[in-house]
Amino acid sequence: MSDKVIDIPSPTRLRLDAGALLSNWHALDNMSGAASAGAAIKANAYGLGAVEVFQRLQSAGCRDFYVANWREAKEIESCAEAHTNISVLNGVRPEDMPFAITSSAKPVLNSVEQAVRWRETGRPCDLMINSGMNRLGINVSELHQCDWSEMNIDIVMSHLASADEDVPQNEAQLEQFANALQLVPGKRRSLSNSAGIALGQDYHFDCTRPGLSLYGGKQRPALVETIQQVAFPEVQILQTRNLQHGDQVGYNAKYTAERDHPIAILAMGYADGYLRGFSNTGIFSKDQTKLPVLGRISMDLVAVDISDAPDLKESDWISADYDLPRASLQSGLSQYELITGLGNRYSRYWA
Ligand SMILES: *Cc1c(COP(=O)(O)O)cnc(C)c1O
Repeated sequence: MSDKVIDIPSPTRLRLDAGALLSNWHALDNMSGAASAGAAIKANAYGLGAVEVFQRLQSAGCRDFYVANWREAKEIESCAEAHTNISVLNGVRPEDMPFAITSSAKPVLNSVEQAVRWRETGRPCDLMINSGMNRLGINVSELHQCDWSEMNIDIVMSHLASADEDVPQNEAQLEQFANALQLVPGKRRSLSNSAGIALGQDYHFDCTRPGLSLYGGKQRPALVETIQQVAFPEVQILQTRNLQHGDQVGYNAKYTAERDHPIAILAMGYADGYLRGFSNTGIFSKDQTKLPVLGRISMDLVAVDISDAPDLKESDWISADYDLPRASLQSGLSQYELITGLGNRYSRYWA
C-alpha cells in the first residue's frame, strides 16, 4: 500500500466571492446608520463556512457575531480577537453550562429560568425579549421576575417576525421592544435582522444583526441594488447524450423531448441542496448561455438542455443560477432554504 495521499477532486464546488461578502457587510453597516452591523453566522454561516466568514468579517471590522448554539461558538472562538463578541442565540441549557462557563462567548438568555441559571456565574450575557414573535425570549410582562441590576447584560435584543413585509406587526414589535427597554438595563440595544435594517432608523438602535443579506439574500427593495450574490454553485458534466424526438428524461419521465437535441447530465442533485423544486424550472449556464433543467432532479444528478452549447463535454464546468431571489422564484424555496441547504459535498473556495 502506498502512503501517498491521492486527492479526489470534488465534481461540485462552491465559489465564494470574498469581495461580495465584505461589500455586503459594509453596505449593511452603512444602512444601519449610527448603529454598527454585526453578523449572524449560525448554521455554519448559512452553509458557507463559519470559520472563513468569521475571520473575513472580523478583519473587516465586524465586532458582534451570532451563532445558534455552543457547539457553533466553540468552532470559532479560538479565532476571536479580544474585542470580538460572540452571542449564542439559543440560550444556555443545563447541559451547556460546563462548557459555557469556560467560553468567551455569551448566552442570549431567553427565559427567566435561564437568567437565574446564568446569574450565579456573574458572567456577561445578552437578553432576548419576546416582542410578539413568540419563539424565544422573555415576555415584557415577565421582566419584573428578575433583579436585572445584578446582571452583566450587554445587548438587550428582540427579533422581528415580518421585517420582509410592510405589516403593522413591525411597529407593534418596535413598541413592545421600547417598553422592555424601560425595564431592563443593558449596555446596548438591538432589534433588526437584514430586512429590519431596511425598515429605517427607528429600527436600528445600537447594533444590527444581519444574516441572509450578508450572503446575498434580498428580501426588501432597498436591498436589491446594494446586495451582491456571494455563493456560486458550480458542477461538472458527467456525460452528454442526444435525445430523439419523444425520448423522456429522469424519474417518472417528467420531460419529453419535442425535437432531437443534446443534453448533459450533471454531478449534482437534491442531496446537494439542489432540491426537487428546481425540476423543469432551474437554470444552469455556461458563460452567458442558459441551460434549462429538464425533468426531475435526482439525488445526485440533474439533466440540462445543452441545445445552445452543443460543444459541452464530460468534465466541463457549468454554473447553477443561484441568484437567491431568482432561484427562490424558480424553485418555490425560501432564500434561507436555498443558501443553508448547499451541503458538504461541495468543495468551497474563496475567490
Ligand atoms: C437568524 C437571526 C438573525 C439574522 O436574520 P436574517 O434574516 O438572516 O438577517 C438575527 N437575529 C436573530 C435572533 C436570528 O435568529
